Amino acid sequence: MFDTLSDRLSGILDKITGRGALSESDVEEALREVRRALLEADVALEVVKTFTDKVREKAVGAEIVKSVKPGQMVVKIVHDAMVETLGGGEASALNLRASPPVAILMVGLQGSGKTTTTAKIAKRLTEREKRRVLMASLDTRRPAAQEQLAILGRQVHVDTLPIVPGQQPVEIAKRAMSEARKGGYDVVMLDTAGRLSIDEELLAEAAAVRDIVKPNETLLVADALTGQDAVVLARNFDEKIGVSGIVLTRIDGDGRGGAALSMRQVTGKPIKLMGTGEKLDGLEDFHPERIAGRILGMGDVVSLVEKAALNIDQEKAKKIAERMKKGAFDLDDLSDQLKQLQKLGGMGGVMNMLPGMGKIKKQVEGMDLDNKLLKRQMAIISSMTPYERRNPKVMDAKRKKRVAAGSGTKVEEINRLLKMHIQMAGMMKQMGQGKGLFGKMMGKG
Ligand code: GDP
Repeated sequence: MFDTLSDRLSGILDKITGRGALSESDVEEALREVRRALLEADVALEVVKTFTDKVREKAVGAEIVKSVKPGQMVVKIVHDAMVETLGGGEASALNLRASPPVAILMVGLQGSGKTTTTAKIAKRLTEREKRRVLMASLDTRRPAAQEQLAILGRQVHVDTLPIVPGQQPVEIAKRAMSEARKGGYDVVMLDTAGRLSIDEELLAEAAAVRDIVKPNETLLVADALTGQDAVVLARNFDEKIGVSGIVLTRIDGDGRGGAALSMRQVTGKPIKLMGTGEKLDGLEDFHPERIAGRILGMGDVVSLVEKAALNIDQEKAKKIAERMKKGAFDLDDLSDQLKQLQKLGGMGGVMNMLPGMGKIKKQVEGMDLDNKLLKRQMAIISSMTPYERRNPKVMDAKRKKRVAAGSGTKVEEINRLLKMHIQMAGMMKQMGQGKGLFGKMMGKG
């Protein structure tokens, strides 16, 4: 496998450590790698260009934060720009605000996962939002398409419009709306016909349905593995039918999902949901961070770099490193470390992100920490006196009892924590020379 973008950028940019700001030529060199990563992730060519222009604008002259490598800095700028392009932090919900029945029109190519997604959304609306949903298939061309939706409807316990043979899409749509009105349904989901490629007739048909039902949402369903075609696809559907949101399917596939960036940038329309499997509960809110990490080929490393850069108090870390080398790692230091770990999403989160942690995990008993445990351990330490924290050896039965009462924990937990501290202090003395997680975090790795 090729290196991650992060590695490549670090390689290029390591040599410029120490300068105050990113220069144009530094950035240009880095952008070449970014461009390559994007193309490898199947982001459409024209989108790559617009995107890198945007990054260039932000990166040139950007102050390199002290203690962060220039390579990491560029990664962060690229990553942030991508998350922003993908719609930022907030997941955008389906818009169902209108007097019922509210229509949702599903459009997309055949095989994109349109029918499956229709059933998934219906299931979600029924179960989570307690809406009464009626589904109807407008696909009169593909034999058994209407029957397929009816079968899915039975699986997710959502009603489907009874099939009337020979009826045309516009007619079916009208009937669906009127049945929904009569039957007191909140939402009508209309699954339109798809084709293997975009064709005018198909688009015209969907547009005619749109004019009749006046949908609140017109969702373009697209396969996340769509490559360069994503732009043409999104642009066509948006121009001819008017798309209000995108659903990306097959996020569980092994592509990098560059289509997300392409479609979002070309249409400006939010990606609202993503399909994460064939099962009918495989539907999730869209997570820009997750997709950005994937497109850049860095997985969780980017968030680790980011969090580390943001959260680790470098000065403090340096001090602890010094103390570690001397073997003077006390409970205050441990408490600081636990706090850092908490910010990084708990020990489990960090372990999964970094290679080589499994070994340490095995060596240090009780280090398989989750967040709840982290909180309890910090509570224990803060219930101790400063003297006790600096001299854990003085912790006798009486003191332990007092601390347990003060922190709402048990004496056994305090024993475990003290034992863990002794083991960690020992490990750290070795690691303090610069290897492993803590060394890395302190900028020595
Ligand atoms: P349509 O022609 O667009 O209506 O596509 P279908 O809904 O019939 O889906 C085509 C195939 O893709 C089916 O085998 C689905 O099970 C599968 N599929 C749909 N969504 C997903 C998804 O998010 N992940 C995976 N792995 N498969 C999916």
